[in-house]
Amino acid sequence: MSNIKDLVNAVGQTVIDNKEYLTELDQAIGDGDHGINMARGFEVVSTKLEAMPEDADISSVLKQVGMGLISSVGGASGPLYGTAFMRAAGACKDKAVDLLVARDMLEAAIKGIQDRGKAVAGEKTMLDALIPAVDTLNEAIEQGKTPKVAVEEMLRAARIGAENTKTIIATKGRASYLGERSLGHQDPGATSSLLMLETLEKCLVGSGKL
Ligand code: ADP
Ligand code: MG
Repeated sequence: MSNIKDLVNAVGQTVIDNKEYLTELDQAIGDGDHGINMARGFEVVSTKLEAMPEDADISSVLKQVGMGLISSVGGASGPLYGTAFMRAAGACKDKAVDLLVARDMLEAAIKGIQDRGKAVAGEKTMLDALIPAVDTLNEAIEQGKTPKVAVEEMLRAARIGAENTKTIIATKGRASYLGERSLGHQDPGATSSLLMLETLEKCLVGSGKL
């Protein structure tokens, strides 16, 4: 796992491998297309990345990811994740990515999702995996944890956050039409966010970068 293109492709592959699972989650509380949407988006992204040079910088690659998702994903998640990747690209432009820049990228991504979708924590969306993740990452940084431990703790928080969406009544997105009937189901977007963070950690550990 040598560079940012490989990393994005690994994340995309995880999303594609989990197409059925994400779609099943969306069948329960949405319109059953989250896996299909995300898999299509990352297939387009993978083609876009093939056209980029091997040594393309992180910011340019993430910008292409964002534009690829916005242009190819029809559902709410396309513009939301697309904006997230574009903002993350902006946060690392002309910078070497260390733990603090990575934290800034995640914060910028979340802010992008919120600017676009107007959701806050606790509405049963992707933010309910991402916000606990960045909050925990910040705590770990404040406590002087190593990057590896900080990222492990971040991931644990994302897992708990995604699982916790089962206990939330949706107030944003399609699932909000179900009201209380959305209870007991894990949010598809929180799950795709968790899968992406998990893959990121796995690849960084696997390549000795964490
Ligand atoms: P659609 O709902 O248009 O069919 P998807 O099924 O691809 O789109 O994505 C659904 C996911 O999008 C939800 O599970 C939720 O996590 C996320 N989502 C929907 N609306 C919002 C929002 N306003 N803010 C953040 N995330 C949202
Ligand atoms: Mg859907």
